[in-house]
Amino acid sequence: MSGSQMRVRGLAAGYHGFEVIKGLDLDVLPGITVVLGPNGAGKTTLLKSLAGLLPRAGEASLDGVALPSGQATTCVRSGLALVAEGRQLFPQMSVTENLELGAWLAPARLRGERLARAFDDFPRLKERAGQLAGTMSGGEQQMVAVARAMMSGPRFLMLDEPSLGLAPRMVDELLAIVRRIAGQGVTVLMVEQNVRKALQTADRGYVLERGRIVAAGDARTLLHSDVIRQAYLGVA
Ligand code: ATP
Repeated sequence: MSGSQMRVRGLAAGYHGFEVIKGLDLDVLPGITVVLGPNGAGKTTLLKSLAGLLPRAGEASLDGVALPSGQATTCVRSGLALVAEGRQLFPQMSVTENLELGAWLAPARLRGERLARAFDDFPRLKERAGQLAGTMSGGEQQMVAVARAMMSGPRFLMLDEPSLGLAPRMVDELLAIVRRIAGQGVTVLMVEQNVRKALQTADRGYVLERGRIVAAGDARTLLHSDVIRQAYLGVA
């Protein structure tokens, strides 16, 4: 499968001098990689630091090109997009307006094309193009957030707990969309609490605990591993 690769070495990040992530190495290959771990493990901190929203130490590169620390705009220009936890939509703006904001860095000639593509990929949003984002259902809002991230034309998409608060059917629909996006050659790095469904969707996984990687492997192997079955799926 074609797609971008991310390489991370010795990443450290945190808040006010407190290190949440400590010397983390990560290789994100084409396809879908999921990061699992308990609350407070540092999953969101990891994604934010890779997206340039939080300063970090260590090296990160996308397809061999270094990603600078703390420079979100440069990261977007390099082909990274992040769907943040909680979606961060503009509730008083329409679906279309929210989507257009995702393409703010793109040349004007590409914006219309990307919007048309977003509506092809997310027919449910096309039907509701003029609706205020704040009046959409939780699942629909998450779709707007993903579609908006895709409007920047990323090669590498990061998703922070996309299934949070969604009904099971909506989770399935969303994960199917994520699979489709990966099938289009966009590499996906996703944080999820929904361990079973995430590992059934992903190609590979990492388990993060207290800022360190404690397990890694292909998704199917992890799903049947003792560490996942006992600590995350509650299977003895
Ligand atoms: P969750 O699954 O609960 O979202 P997480 O693995 O994503 O957890 P992070 O959100 O990365 O974890 O948080 C890791 C640690 O950093 C936590 O102890 C948290 O309290 C702390 N933290 C997060 N954001 C801040 C902040 N803005 N200022 C200070 N500490 C923070």
